[in-house]
Amino acid sequence: MNGELVVERPEGLYCPAGDFFIDPWRPVARAVVTHAHADHARRGHGAYLAQADGAAVLRARLGPIALQTLAYGEPVELGGVRLSLHPAGHVLGSAQVRIEHRGEVWVVSGDYFVAGDAEAAGAGGDPNPTCPAFEPLRCHCFVTESTFGLPLYRWRAPRELLAEVEAWWRANADAGRASLLLAYSFGKAQRLLAGVDASTGPIVVHGAVAAMNEACRAAGARLPATVALDAVAGRAALARALVVAPPAVLGSAWTRRLGPHASGLASGWMQLRGARRRRGVDRGFALSDHADWPGLLRAIDATGAGRVIVTHGQEEVLVRWLRERGLDAGRFRTAWGDDEADESAPERAALAAPADDAAVGAERPGASDAPPARAPPDLSTAR
Ligand SMILES: [Zn+2]
Ligand SMILES: [Zn+2]
Repeated sequence: MNGELVVERPEGLYCPAGDFFIDPWRPVARAVVTHAHADHARRGHGAYLAQADGAAVLRARLGPIALQTLAYGEPVELGGVRLSLHPAGHVLGSAQVRIEHRGEVWVVSGDYFVAGDAEAAGAGGDPNPTCPAFEPLRCHCFVTESTFGLPLYRWRAPRELLAEVEAWWRANADAGRASLLLAYSFGKAQRLLAGVDASTGPIVVHGAVAAMNEACRAAGARLPATVALDAVAGRAALARALVVAPPAVLGSAWTRRLGPHASGLASGWMQLRGARRRRGVDRGFALSDHADWPGLLRAIDATGAGRVIVTHGQEEVLVRWLRERGLDAGRFRTAWGDDEADESAPERAALAAPADDAAVGAERPGASDAPPARAPPDLSTAR
C-alpha cells in the first residue's frame, strides 16, 4: 500500500503523490476541477486541469485562466500519478477524477447524476441529454458526494417530470400568464431547455442563463431557440412564454416586468413539500442533477470499492449505511456547496451580466433560507 492517495488539507482535497488539489476552495498552484459550478471551480489557482467539454463554461465564469483540458478517458501523468477524467452525468464537462498510483486506484466523484430506480426500470428516457452518462469505474477507494444521501430521496423519471413542466406551461399560457421556471443557470437550465417541447410559446431566458447557453452551444449542446425578455413583443406573447431564470430573481424587479405569471422551481429539494413553501414558489419540479438514494447506492456498488469516503451532503446516514454493510466508510469535510438549493454566493456574483439583469445580484430576503441540505429533513414528502 502507498498510503492515502487523497487527503484533507485546509485548501481542499489533496493528492500528495501527484501534488495537486481537486476542486480546492482556497488558491493553490495546481487544481483539477471536476465541473464548472461555482463551489467546485473557484478563482485564483495557478493552473487548472478540467474536461474539455466544460472549457468554454469555465472560461466564461472564471475569465482567463491557465487551463489544460483532457478528453474523457485520456490519461495524463502528474508527478508519479496517472490521472484521467470520466463522465459524471451531472452537467456539461462534469468529470470523476480517477487517480492511479502503484496499482492503487481512487476515484473522486465530484457531483454526479446516475440513473435511479425509475430510469433503471426503463421508464426514464435519456437521463441527462446535456452530457454523457455517469461511467462506473472500478476502484479501491471511492470518494462520493451525498447531496441527497437519505433514503427518502427517490426521483421520478425525468421524462415524467418534463411532461409535468410542459403541462404546467400550457395551462399557464391558456390562462394568460407567463411561466417563470427557476433553475440553476448552468446545468439545470440547459437540461430543461433541451428536454421540453418548445411548441407552446416563446422561450425567454434571463441574461445569466443566456450566457451559459452560449458557452454550452459552443461546446456542441443542442438547445432550442431562446430570446431575451426585451425581445418579446407585447403582453400576449409574454403570457405564452416559458421564462427560464436563476432562483435568485424571485421577487426582483426583473420578474415584475413579466406581468402576470406563475412560478416554478426545478430542484431535487422540491420533492419536499416544506422546501417549496419556504421558497415561495407556486410549483416544484423535483428534477435533480444529483444521484438519488438508490442511485448513490448503485454507483457505490458498481465501483467495487472496499473503502468509501463521503463528502458534502447527508454524510452521516450514508456512512452508517455503508458501515453496516461491512464497508470501510468515512467522510471528508469540504467547503463544496449545494447547487440544487440556490446559486451560491460566488455564483450570484457571476450573475452580474447585462445591465437589465443586475437586479439578480441583490439577494432576495429569505433567498438564503436554510438550504434543506443543512436543515433537518422535512418528512412531509409529497409522495
Ligand atoms: Zn455541481
Ligand atoms: Zn457539489
